Amino acid sequence: MKQDEQDPVLPEIRAIQDEMVALRHRIHAHPELAYEEHATGDLVAERLAAWGYEVHRGLGGTGVVGTLRRGAGGRRLGLRADMDALPIQETTGLPYASRLAGKMHACGHDGHTATLLAAARALAGRARFEGALNLIFQPAEEGHGGAQRMIEDGLFQRFPCDAVYSFHNEPGYPAGRFGFRAGAMYSSSDTVIITVRGVGGHGAMPHAAVDPVVAAAGIVLALQTIVSREIDPNDMAVVTIGAIHGGDAPNVIPQSVELRLTVRARRAETRALLRERITAIATAQAAVHRATVEVDYRWRYPPVVNDREATAFAEEVARRWLGEDWLIPDLEPLQASDDFAFMLQEAPGSYFIVGNGEGEGGCMVHNPGYDFNDAILPVTASYWVRLAEAFLAPAG
Ligand SMILES: [Zn+2]
Ligand SMILES: [Zn+2]
Repeated sequence: MKQDEQDPVLPEIRAIQDEMVALRHRIHAHPELAYEEHATGDLVAERLAAWGYEVHRGLGGTGVVGTLRRGAGGRRLGLRADMDALPIQETTGLPYASRLAGKMHACGHDGHTATLLAAARALAGRARFEGALNLIFQPAEEGHGGAQRMIEDGLFQRFPCDAVYSFHNEPGYPAGRFGFRAGAMYSSSDTVIITVRGVGGHGAMPHAAVDPVVAAAGIVLALQTIVSREIDPNDMAVVTIGAIHGGDAPNVIPQSVELRLTVRARRAETRALLRERITAIATAQAAVHRATVEVDYRWRYPPVVNDREATAFAEEVARRWLGEDWLIPDLEPLQASDDFAFMLQEAPGSYFIVGNGEGEGGCMVHNPGYDFNDAILPVTASYWVRLAEAFLAPAG
C-alpha cells in the first residue's frame, strides 16, 4: 500500500469506519433473499433519511433510492449497490455469521451496501458537489433481475442519470486494488431448457419406440460444435449442459429427456447467434432420431458492457488519487454476470471490481466459507466519494 504519500481513506470515512463495519456485520447476520430485503431496506432508508437524503422506496419491490441534490443545475450521477443474499448455509463460524438457516451473504452484497452507505454519509457531510446524487440500493441481483424490475418501475425516468456506476468485490485479487475495463466486463447469462420427446417403450424393443435418450446424446455432442466451429476464436462463448434428466429403469425407454443449459457470451450479436444455433441444432438433431424438441430459451442477464468514456473517467479518478499501484493492470473480462447490465443499457456507466484479497480474502463468492473483506470498505467508500465529487464537481 502506498500510504507513505497520502492516506487512501478520507478522514470523514476513517471517522465512521468502525461504525460502518459494524453495520456490515449487522446486515451479514440478517441476510435476506431476493425481493425479501425488507429489514435491509428499512436500515438503508432510515440511515439515508437521517443524513438528509430524500428516500424513495418500492422500486422493484424492495429497492431503495436515496437522492441528494445540491445547487440548481449540474449533472446527475447514479451509484448502485445490491442488497440480496443467497440460499446457502454459512460455515464461516464468524461471530456475525448468518442467524438464519439456509441464508447467507455469500456474494458480499452486505459489503456493497455498507460501503455505499458509508460514502452516502461522507458525501452528505462534506457537501462538495453540485447536481443530483442518486444512490440506488437494488434488490434481487442473484438471478432474479432486481435491476430490471427497478428500471421497469421508472428508475431512470424518476431519477435520470448522466452516468451510473457499480462495483463488485473480487476474491483472488489483492485487497483494495481497483480493476477497470472498457467494453465487455462480465458475460451474459442465459438458461435454456430443452425437452426431448420420443415414444417410450420396452428397453428390449427399441424399434417400437422413439428413444429420446439417444436423441439427447446427439444434441449434447452437436451443441459443442457451436463454440468450436461457429464462433470466432477471438470472441467468447460458453455452452454448458449442466443437467440431463430422463428415464429411471435400465430396461425402459423413457418418454422424454430434459437438458438444462447455461449459455454465456460477451457480445449481444454472439448471444443472439447462440440462441439461433442452439434452437436449430437441437431441433435438427432430434429430427435425425425421429424425436421432437421443445426449446424454452430464458433470456436472463445481458453482458455487462462498460462505456469507454465513463470507464476512463472512473479509472482516472482512481489513478490520480491512489496512484498506478492501486490499479489492477490489464484486467481481462471475468466469467460472471450481473444484472447491472440492464442499467448500463439505460445510461452510460461502468462496472468495476475491487480486490477482496488473496489468501484469507481469496475464498470465492457463492461459497459457504466466503466473507466480504472489511479492510476494503474504507478505501472503496472513499473512492465512491472521490468519484461522485469529481463527476459532480461544481462549475467554475
Ligand atoms: Zn453472486
Ligand atoms: Zn454479487
